[in-house]
Amino acid sequence: MEIDKPTTIMCTVVAIDHTNLCYRVCSLCEKTLPENPTASACKPCNCSKSFNFSNSSSKRLFRVLMSIATDTKVFVVIMFDRAARVLFGCSADEFFDFAKTHPYAAMAVARALEGEMLTVTLSNPKNGNAQHLRVVSVVPLRSGFKPAIETMRDLYRVRGVSLQPSS
Ligand SMILES: [Zn+2]
Repeated sequence: MEIDKPTTIMCTVVAIDHTNLCYRVCSLCEKTLPENPTASACKPCNCSKSFNFSNSSSKRLFRVLMSIATDTKVFVVIMFDRAARVLFGCSADEFFDFAKTHPYAAMAVARALEGEMLTVTLSNPKNGNAQHLRVVSVVPLRSGFKPAIETMRDLYRVRGVSLQPSS
């Protein structure tokens, strides 16, 4: 799909790449950091003596690859933090923490959002090398739409504590 200016379309979520929903950035300058927290942190911001490799100096942002269908075609778009929060209903950090204690949450969240009808505004990537259109805004169309984190909390609450491993 090619567009020459930001375009708003109606679409359906076909699939979400749940294996890689977010990435780490420096919490001060939002530069991308390596996934391994002990690897070199953000150098410009790393002069603080209190820096101790904890998560205090990094945070997570959503970066979600999603395949969507319009009435004529299916294609992949990339959705960054601001748009993804609308669908997830929480920050990437909150979701990451939730997923740490609920290992299937990312998969379940992708499944929960599949089939959802959305109005999305797409724009060309700022980086000319990027291969996917980016979602600049998203509005769920279904009147009963619930952000994914709420669906997850309901789901795991219903299943209850009895399914927690006993060891
Ligand atoms: Zn920084």
